[in-house]
Amino acid sequence: MLGSAPPSLGPTTPPRGQRAPFRRPGSAATAPPSCWGALEPLLPQVRKPAQYVGGEHNQRSTPWEAAETRWLLCYPDTYEVGQPNQGIQILYELLNDRPTALAERAYAPWVDLEELLRAEGLPTFSLETHRPLWAFDVFGVTLPHELGHTNLLNLLDLGGVAHRSAQRGADDPLVLVGGHAAFNPEPLAPFVDAAVMGDGEEVTLEIDDVVRRHKAEREPGGSLASAPDDEVRHALLRALAAVEGVYVPAFYAPRYSDDGRLTRTVPTEGGIPALVPKRTVQDLEQWAYPRKQLVPMTETVHERFSVEIFRGCTRGCRFCQAGMITRPVRERRPETVQRLVEEGVADTGFNEVGLLSLSSADHSAIAPIARELADTYEGTTTSLSLPSTRVDAFNVTLSNELARNGRRTGLTFAPEAGSERLRAVINKMVSEADLLRTAEVAFSEGWRHIKLYFMVGLPTETDEDVAAIAELAIEVYAVARRHGRANKVTISVGGFVPKPHTPFQWAAQDPPEEIRRKLTLIRHAIKDHRGITLRTNDPEEGVIEGLLSRGDRRVAAVVERAWQLGARFDGWHEMPTLELWRRALAETGVDLAWYSYRERDQREALPWDHLDSGLDSDWLWEDWQDAQSDQQLDDCRWSACYDCGVCPGLSLEHDTGYTGGYSLPVLPQGLGSSAAGDGALPTAPERYAGGG
Ligand code: SF4
Repeated sequence: MLGSAPPSLGPTTPPRGQRAPFRRPGSAATAPPSCWGALEPLLPQVRKPAQYVGGEHNQRSTPWEAAETRWLLCYPDTYEVGQPNQGIQILYELLNDRPTALAERAYAPWVDLEELLRAEGLPTFSLETHRPLWAFDVFGVTLPHELGHTNLLNLLDLGGVAHRSAQRGADDPLVLVGGHAAFNPEPLAPFVDAAVMGDGEEVTLEIDDVVRRHKAEREPGGSLASAPDDEVRHALLRALAAVEGVYVPAFYAPRYSDDGRLTRTVPTEGGIPALVPKRTVQDLEQWAYPRKQLVPMTETVHERFSVEIFRGCTRGCRFCQAGMITRPVRERRPETVQRLVEEGVADTGFNEVGLLSLSSADHSAIAPIARELADTYEGTTTSLSLPSTRVDAFNVTLSNELARNGRRTGLTFAPEAGSERLRAVINKMVSEADLLRTAEVAFSEGWRHIKLYFMVGLPTETDEDVAAIAELAIEVYAVARRHGRANKVTISVGGFVPKPHTPFQWAAQDPPEEIRRKLTLIRHAIKDHRGITLRTNDPEEGVIEGLLSRGDRRVAAVVERAWQLGARFDGWHEMPTLELWRRALAETGVDLAWYSYRERDQREALPWDHLDSGLDSDWLWEDWQDAQSDQQLDDCRWSACYDCGVCPGLSLEHDTGYTGGYSLPVLPQGLGSSAAGDGALPTAPERYAGGG
């Protein structure tokens, strides 16, 4: 199946209830049948069958009858992509730790298995007990990006659940979405029962309480015992809408002006909040999960023990949705990180540890954390990694420390734009001198390969800015060659997609032809430098992502039609689905250019305006204006608060690390001298002595 066009499977599953032997039981309390007996004979016919088997170390299997609420947590992609997802693993453990709840997991079957499942009348199933989707109370789906939307519809349909929420009844699972793409759920509004905004730990348990109470009300003697189906479902959705951070699209309606622009999105019933705030876990120490990380049965994209060392980012990169919607920064204590790693490595047997966050070198105590862990695992086969693309010598020194057990192969830095002017526009405060100095340190200390991440299609970009990417790469390569003829430089260039809840949410996206032209400029400029490798994404890839990122409710018709035409796995190179989307756009009359390639003005309402990420909309607009006049903004961790709006909403004062004061690891290059600017790791007392 790989490499071929996706089959037009469409929603061909037999209607719910006709699928013997997996039809609904008479009582919801009766354990539904496992599909395993029918599934197992199919597995020799599919690619990577081990991904469907289950039985991982640390898997939980609470007896069905023992639970009052039953969740199926889903990552809408294959097991190899979704299994390492930390969000799913955290909620899985939290729910299974509750004596009244049960949580299992599901991933999207690849198209080869889907074809067999549909032919055999088998449903979407859980990994743990291979039970059908329709048997669970809640189907909780994480959406880290927009390219899983068609998979979500497909999983519902294959799982015996109506893909439109209005067609679901009282006994159907509640369909929830969370994750970063849930910050604009409007293109999924007709399909999901609710979107959960922000950190999931607390709100998931509150939703579980709502579902448990709701089920109790349906028991004999309860207030909903003899209520009609639609009344029961409505009562559940009303109770959900009362939970802070939960958005129920069915209770809101968009209003449009005559020219088709959105004017606002308003509640349609009394008592429904006009603005839905995101949830923020204020103290990560109270939520030290996952403690028992699941060890995959087969190859996955990340095979390592992962610990989230902090959440949030205040660097203020204007293109970065993750940084904007996860503010403020909340750190985990070094001793907690050390304990989680030691216990996790001993328990799981992983020989790689990942210290995760949006920019891990920015933890205020990253140096002692790295040193302690490097000391602990020196001379063992356990390696340490930390996703950080920060452009400074401190990052190199930190990488040296973490690489004690391994070879110094590749380092990655993310200048994001080629010219200083455009880096000011995107608020990426990195000078050319910073980058060249960092490259000098890296190659002189034995690193052999530097990867540089860039984007094209950024707001205000000119051809000179694009050419500057190639010029910068050539300069870095000159540094590389001075330290060794075999040293290499790779530049990875992707097309920019504007995202909701960022200062660039009003910007026009470049069409794929323009992205392709700019990539050609770069390719041409470096063609005589064989030591530089250029990696690019297919410019067409940003088309679907752009439409879904900033689409409104009218775009839902395109999602539905694309899925009906056979679109799934839209982020996979092996699945060329763009033509299906173009057909869906044509059939639904939705204008891609109007949604993606047009700049908005301040008067136009945005489809996510009623969803509150904590950022003040006036501040976002001012920051967008600042961007267009090349004005930069410091990270509020080492400068004055610039009133983005997040902290007052949380009753916090100036955002800080866990120490409660300024506890800065290093000033960014270009803003002044750095405590670690010479590449030396400060001692632990130095690190903690930032003062507040
Ligand atoms: S409110 Fe101020 S301190 Fe808090 S994240 Fe925003 S800019 Fe930073």
